[in-house]
Amino acid sequence: MIPFELARPRSLEEAIGLLDPEDPDIRPVGGGTAVMLMMKAGVLRPTRLVSLRDIEPAYSQVRIGGNGELRIGGLTRLATLEHSPLVKEGWPMLSRTLRTLSNVRVRNVATIGGNLGHADPHMDLPPVLTSLGARVTLSGPQGERTVPMEQLCTGYYETVLARNELISEVIVPPQAGRPAAYMKVTTRAAHDWPALGVAVVLDMQGPRIRNASVIVGAATDKPTRLTKTEALLRDALPDEITLRRAGEEGAQELDIVGDPHGSASYKKQLLRVYLGRAVRSALAATAGKPAGHHGTHAS
Ligand SMILES: Cc1cc2nc3c(=O)[nH]c(=O)nc-3n(C[C@H](O)[C@H](O)[C@H](O)COP(=O)(O)OP(=O)(O)OC[C@H]3O[C@@H](n4cnc5c(N)ncnc54)[C@H](O)[C@@H]3O)c2cc1C
Repeated sequence: MIPFELARPRSLEEAIGLLDPEDPDIRPVGGGTAVMLMMKAGVLRPTRLVSLRDIEPAYSQVRIGGNGELRIGGLTRLATLEHSPLVKEGWPMLSRTLRTLSNVRVRNVATIGGNLGHADPHMDLPPVLTSLGARVTLSGPQGERTVPMEQLCTGYYETVLARNELISEVIVPPQAGRPAAYMKVTTRAAHDWPALGVAVVLDMQGPRIRNASVIVGAATDKPTRLTKTEALLRDALPDEITLRRAGEEGAQELDIVGDPHGSASYKKQLLRVYLGRAVRSALAATAGKPAGHHGTHAS
């Protein structure tokens, strides 16, 4: 391994000052789970790593804001989020998703900022947070800016973050008891990287879907909203025919890319099937019934 400098700033401001907007070889490190793998693979050869481990504890906290939104500090570990009683109660979709994200050892050290900053299109949290309408606060030398989670990832491992900006907070509007589910389809162990991820949040009006938020991960270069499928589900009754049509529409509208977890045509077929299952899981979870399927789901 090529020698590098390890900086351990004590504040977020100091950490930002140690980053360089022009230099891709200077990187912040949260849990280091992705950074270490990239270094081992030789795709990252940093000259300086800026550890975020010692910065103010306020950035590692989970709390509820004044308007009932969930406010997650950018350095919060995924295990802290997974076990947070606040999250379990108000955002069950989120805590259930975390249980199948990688393994306990990774979740114990990985941070939410590192997770979202990595922007691997296979990650589980981006589609889930996008479907819940989350926003991300980015802190840089000029202060803070907030971007919708939906706009954070711009492509394969790419984000809107400047090289000297850090994810300092993630804000999630209340799930507010809305039916919601994330279907993680894996081809090996349940906690493996997904071959496809489908996140669905529904606004219901009686038996009808008033609005659906449908986001797919692990299928293209970034989490993608299925707008035509959402339109098809709007004001519809979630019956068998509608859900089959929605799965068909999703498979049509998304230009899926194959990868080692599945070919494009396999993923298309998964989407056809799992879109309806995600909607059914969401509704069953709210009604307190088992969804009657065999995928891994987080409602
Ligand atoms: C064995 C294994 C299995 C995995 N399986 C899954 C899976 O099933 N599903 C899934 O979703 N993920 C999976 N992952 C990925 C895992 O979720 C990420 O590695 C982890 O979340 C990254 O967080 P971190 O804090 O360790 O990031 P780091 O490795 O510290 O950083 C990752 C990237 O983000 C940048 N960064 C770090 N902190 C910040 C910040 N605060 N602001 C801006 N940029 C920042 C770094 O510079 C780097 O580019 C797996 C990982 C491993 C090792």
